[in-house]
Amino acid sequence: MEKSRQHIAIVFRTALLFFAWLCAAPASADGLQGVQGLYVLNCGENDTKDVSMWSPGVDVGKPRQFSDSCYLIRHANGLLLWETGVSDAVAAMPDGLVVGGGILTLHVPKTLQSQLKELGVSPADIAYLGFSHFHGDHVGNANLFTSATLYAQQVEYDAAFGPDAAKFGFNAALYDKLRASPAVKLEGDHDIFGDGSVVIYSTPGHTPGHQSLLVRLPKTGPVLLSGDAVHFRENWENRRVPARNFDKEQSLASMEKLAAILAREHATLWINHDKPQTDTLPHAPDFIQ
Ligand SMILES: [Zn+2]
Repeated sequence: MEKSRQHIAIVFRTALLFFAWLCAAPASADGLQGVQGLYVLNCGENDTKDVSMWSPGVDVGKPRQFSDSCYLIRHANGLLLWETGVSDAVAAMPDGLVVGGGILTLHVPKTLQSQLKELGVSPADIAYLGFSHFHGDHVGNANLFTSATLYAQQVEYDAAFGPDAAKFGFNAALYDKLRASPAVKLEGDHDIFGDGSVVIYSTPGHTPGHQSLLVRLPKTGPVLLSGDAVHFRENWENRRVPARNFDKEQSLASMEKLAAILAREHATLWINHDKPQTDTLPHAPDFIQ
């Protein structure tokens, strides 16, 4: 009787240890967990003759250059591409592509596909795909990534794939092949991998379902990818809202939300279109950990 009780105790303890080991087991077969790092890709260089379209009443008639970044994030569960930039087709246009009724000229010095290839990544390797929003300088190469699961706010998804996409300033031809892709449609913030390492934050205003991305880098620490919730540092510091934003009040509230996240997480804000800041970031093939 005593022996069998001891036996049960040993079996129970072994089961407990096994369960504890299971809980501590790594998320992937190669023993890696969370975000390993990211690559910043040059996904366009755009310029305007009059920056005041983005800063109403300020710097009227002054030119400005914008960076346009994509971010390839290596997570233990797979590759996530955030933003796809200006269409690679623009690389073949020596004078670039004029959009927005002449306010912006888009240039592609190096295609996204060639940058991925240099990293040994093919479009089919991208398992997770997201954009801050569906404007053409963020979804230009979206059609390449049909194997990925798409993460978008429901309201943005409906606007982009609905009959009135053009009314929102979206060009459906750029992302139409994603219509059949598996999609996770969000109504707010979302922790993509469930481990807190990559979190989508809903930041509407620039478009109906604009979103920003927090990435916890193992050495650099948390970085917050702005999307177009803000376009450059001076607008951030003065909380300026571009004239063409979908909703001004939402835009202001989203900037305050980002400020609160930065304070809480001790994160660094990487402003997608702020060329002076983007120029300070290591670009692919450098890997930021
Ligand atoms: Zn935009």
